[in-house]
Amino acid sequence: PEETNATFFENIFESYQMLAQDADKTFTGTVKLDGNVNLDQSLVKQLMTILFDNAMKYSNEDGKIDILITKSGSYLNLFVSDNGEGISNEDKKRVFDRFYRVDKARTRQKGGLGLGLSLAKQIVVAYGGRIAIEDNPPKGTKFVIRLKIEMPTVHPARIFQKNKEISDKK
Ligand code: ATP
Repeated sequence: PEETNATFFENIFESYQMLAQDADKTFTGTVKLDGNVNLDQSLVKQLMTILFDNAMKYSNEDGKIDILITKSGSYLNLFVSDNGEGISNEDKKRVFDRFYRVDKARTRQKGGLGLGLSLAKQIVVAYGGRIAIEDNPPKGTKFVIRLKIEMPTVHPARIFQKNKEISDKK
């Protein structure tokens, strides 16, 4: 059985809180959901891992990483803010490209292939959502992600059968 949303998010937040502590950073996670929503937990976990790893990687000591998860209508919103080095407007358009990395000399020492965000975008698109990058004044980046929550649906065959039952009764 899948974990509830609350335990699912708490477990992920907890491991990042420990990682952050070891790196002299702070990581805070807030979840504001009423009730349980239907998520593909392995995909959402992969998505969060990419964004949280980047927020940790591209912020310095005293880094502050804040996560907020909310729901509006049939969408799950995920906000990932850091106070790191930020992403210029020009690079905001390109960081989702495969293998694109900002300032190769500077990021080389941090490792990575430049694949994380392109994968993140694919996950979001598969979810019928969107991903955007904003600045996080005075310094840093804020990723704003919206995922369509799968609503429990009635199978088409079942609707057909119901209609037939109704018309048979007439
Ligand atoms: P990996 O393949 O391991 O994910 P990566 O981190 O370089 O490597 P992406 O996650 O695709 O690859 O990120 C692309 C580039 O965007 C990074 O190289 C970095 O320059 C920039 N970037 C991503 N997240 C942030 C962030 N939170 N703050 C500042 N720059 C970022």
